[in-house]
Amino acid sequence: MFVHNKRLQYTVRVSECNPGLANLMLEQFGGPQGELAAACRYFTQYLAEDDPGRKDMLIDIATEELSHLEVIGNIVAMLNKSAKGHIAEGTDSEAELYRQISGGGNSSHVTQLLYGGGAAFTNSGGVPFSSSYVDTIGDPTCDLRSNIAAEARAKIIYERLINMTDDPGVKEALGFLMTREISHQKSFEKALYSIEPNFPPGKLPGMAEFDSVYFNMSGKEGHEVRGPWNKEPDFEYREAEPAVDGGSGLAEVKVSSADATLLQNSAARLQSDPDSDPLTGAMLGMKNGKSPSHG
Ligand code: MN
Ligand code: MN
Repeated sequence: MFVHNKRLQYTVRVSECNPGLANLMLEQFGGPQGELAAACRYFTQYLAEDDPGRKDMLIDIATEELSHLEVIGNIVAMLNKSAKGHIAEGTDSEAELYRQISGGGNSSHVTQLLYGGGAAFTNSGGVPFSSSYVDTIGDPTCDLRSNIAAEARAKIIYERLINMTDDPGVKEALGFLMTREISHQKSFEKALYSIEPNFPPGKLPGMAEFDSVYFNMSGKEGHEVRGPWNKEPDFEYREAEPAVDGGSGLAEVKVSSADATLLQNSAARLQSDPDSDPLTGAMLGMKNGKSPSHG
């Protein structure tokens, strides 16, 4: 069960109304790297997890992400507060109201007109939240790697938001949220490496002759810079070649003779005549059947 505490995880002090800035904050409310996506990601993983330690961690972090959602949502609501009142009461001139709600030049007018200044589950561009942001796949070594990457991305989005914010209270709260993503990334890293072995993911090994090969797919130009990502001793650097399995390199399938006849009939019916010179609709529309470029 969830129990709600009336106080936020971190105090939100917003200096002044700023609908344009509020809209930028929506990126971490309903965007792909946002707090709802994070909470849902870890919550789904928690539901299916059997390992008691990981299960605890996942629901703790999922719950903390919901607390972050509450913080960022309150930042949005506070930044919209005055404009919301002005619009609801129609106190100012039309032009002044218009100026207020479209302040930042982004889609803040949508937040005001459609959502009444509340925090909507969209990203900063107004794109509705999608459950496709939740990329849980049900294998802890995959999910933990994805979580690590998700925390890294969330950290960067917060950093960008902090750099675009001059409100000190907002900056501070965002700094806290950003810092927590660093801490989550560390926990997920520890959880991943407390599974041994954790690589490659899953149970099936790769094909030994290919699992440490780097194929040069850049042709004769090759690579001016080679590094540990494609160098010996960890990698065998090989020129790209077709049919590395030693086979024909062609796609084959066995079909019944009856199906083969059908397929041949179909291919014969649709075959092209390379020696033809057909009159086409495009030519009919041109003067003398010729385009201007032909004189
Ligand atoms: Mn968070
Ligand atoms: Mn996090």
